[in-house]
Amino acid sequence: MKRIALSGAAGRMGTACRQALSEAPDLELVACIDQAPSDGALTFATVAEALAATTPDVLVDFTAPASVEANIRAALAAGTDCVVGTTGLSAETLAALEAAIPAGTCLFVAPNFAIGAVLLMQLAVQAARFMPDVEIIELHHNQKKDAPSGTAIRTAELIAAARPQPQGAPGAESEIPGAAGARGACVEGIPVHSVRLPGLVAHQEVIFGGPGQTLTLRHDSMDRSSFMPGVLLACRAVADRSGLIVGLEKLMEG
Ligand code: NAD
Repeated sequence: MKRIALSGAAGRMGTACRQALSEAPDLELVACIDQAPSDGALTFATVAEALAATTPDVLVDFTAPASVEANIRAALAAGTDCVVGTTGLSAETLAALEAAIPAGTCLFVAPNFAIGAVLLMQLAVQAARFMPDVEIIELHHNQKKDAPSGTAIRTAELIAAARPQPQGAPGAESEIPGAAGARGACVEGIPVHSVRLPGLVAHQEVIFGGPGQTLTLRHDSMDRSSFMPGVLLACRAVADRSGLIVGLEKLMEG
């Protein structure tokens, strides 16, 4: 039985994780960490307290961009494998965290735990080789703390690495006075547009344009259960891995 500590246990993703872990016969939730009251037992206010009291095999983190780095550092210092879904970690922070991973310990980070979203990214890479002109629209609920989404940033990075030179389109210089941002954020040379509305969960469209045609790839997470098979897969996989691993696709083929 693998023993799991969950930080952000009272949040939206934390609540979905508690449900999924309670149904997994080989995974045991031994600590719920959150400053906010949660309806689960096993509650701790900090990761450090939970690690000291329960010595879990894995820390799962779905907290906030401002909290995640310190949580990971505490877990790595204790030699605890990490499964991280919290977004907003910069490439520089990830590189610094990588340097702090003890031998034999794994830091796994997934910008998106939904298998359909991972497939969308893989299909986008294929399409970008032949249709390099592309823009991304990501749509999320209105409580999301970071924009653009981690998934959109990752998608842009993957497309940028795969595509030949695009024809290009007007950028921020074409925005009319008073409408800054109309052309989106520029991530790796790709415009990314972030929509935030109540009612949404997590959605992404990648639109490719070529002469006389467009191709639209779209993924929708209807509810947070979409992320749970990926989270459980990662909880099981980290024991056999070490070092920094980014992206669920790295675990999907065994
Ligand atoms: P939320 O605000 O509902 O929940 C976050 C919880 O973390 C809150 O209960 C908060 O009290 C708690 N928290 C904050 N700092 C903490 C700390 N230091 N220790 C313990 N708990 C702490 O947010 P959410 O919608 O559940 O999302 C959480 C994170 O997961 C966000 O960064 C979001 O972007 C990300 N996310 C990732 C994926 C993915 O597939 N990778 C999917 C959905 C959401």
